[in-house]
Amino acid sequence: MKDLPKICILSMSMILVALNGCTQPKSLSERTSEIHDRVLTVDTHIDWPMKQFLNPDFNPSVRHAPGQGDSGQWDLIRMEEGGLDAVFMSIFTPQKKRTDQGHTKSKEVALKQIELTKKMVADNPNIAAIALTPKDAYRLEKAGKHAIFIGMENGYPIAKDIRNVKLFFDLGVRYITLTHSKNNELGDSSTDKQPEWGGLSPLGEEVVEEMNRLGMIVDISHVHDETFWDVIKLTKAPVIASHSSARTLRDVPRNISDEMLKAIKQNGGVVQVCLLDDFIKEMKQTPEREAALEELKEETSAWLRGELSKVELEKFKEKYRQIDEKYPKNRPTLADAIDHIDHLVQVMGIEHVGIGSDFDGGGGLVGIDDVSEMPNITRELLTRGYTEDEIRQLWGGNLMRVFNEVIQVAAELQN
Ligand SMILES: [Zn+2]
Repeated sequence: MKDLPKICILSMSMILVALNGCTQPKSLSERTSEIHDRVLTVDTHIDWPMKQFLNPDFNPSVRHAPGQGDSGQWDLIRMEEGGLDAVFMSIFTPQKKRTDQGHTKSKEVALKQIELTKKMVADNPNIAAIALTPKDAYRLEKAGKHAIFIGMENGYPIAKDIRNVKLFFDLGVRYITLTHSKNNELGDSSTDKQPEWGGLSPLGEEVVEEMNRLGMIVDISHVHDETFWDVIKLTKAPVIASHSSARTLRDVPRNISDEMLKAIKQNGGVVQVCLLDDFIKEMKQTPEREAALEELKEETSAWLRGELSKVELEKFKEKYRQIDEKYPKNRPTLADAIDHIDHLVQVMGIEHVGIGSDFDGGGGLVGIDDVSEMPNITRELLTRGYTEDEIRQLWGGNLMRVFNEVIQVAAELQN
């Protein structure tokens, strides 16, 4: 009993310290970095493997100053700076002719990109590791390493052979974006001149079933609306859109209508907002820029058709770069992209929304131009009143829930 006053004095001083703490609320920057560090952050779409394929001299272990020359938007050092825990590296094959030769070549290009991705990881064993499951991502996050998942953008390398699905799965591919910008053997694309199959092709149906069976995520970004509805009817597992935004805010075929968003909610899936300027907001450009782009129109169409040779492509890119330098493009901002997150949350609920930047594949906005700037997303979400739990869901919790369900469905189908 004699010691009681001392304890009281001690408690009083602790209360004072606590009260003092309360009078100094944490700044937005402090809260941003604490929450950003605590949650698992996942970007479901970065096109670095194609960049590495085209430019083998790019060293992913070295920091590249953002926005300079061929610095790209991702390297391991900037991934660390941006506090990005996990990424799906997209194995992207530009679609050429749908001949045996075209298909064989595309498979080679895909296999090479998988090899480059694995080499990048093998060269950096202390920083990164290949991940195949959500469990891997959480384990690696705890170990302070970056989880590198592999996704495949465009089912073109599947060609006409269903066995290729398992071949790529066994190599570590965990999602396939069924089409890219053109129709392929699996189904119709949202941006080809006209539909060819009226949605999924018969082989496309088999591929979706095979992906369900294997535990591979079906990615509906880029597909035609009819293909989307066919997938939704057929799939036994939740789907993702690895990089797509809201059509209500920006009416382009690559974005997703509210009706489709509601169907994805029903399916249990997730839509990962894409940070590509043209999918976020239409911006008025200067007449000078418009005129300069008009002059480049023919080359641009040839590029979109994938018809430029390597030398022509380099020339085209240089001309484009000069136009960008002389007449900078008016671009949407990060806040405009968060408007898409707000809309998706409103239509689908917070459990069905995430982030897929499309860096090194066209992504990038004012305020979020490379992977080092990822905390800006967390800051904007905090500013808009999202709680830590909601931010955890948006940044990766939802995606990992879907991924786990896909694995669960596969286990049931294989039993
Ligand atoms: Zn894409």
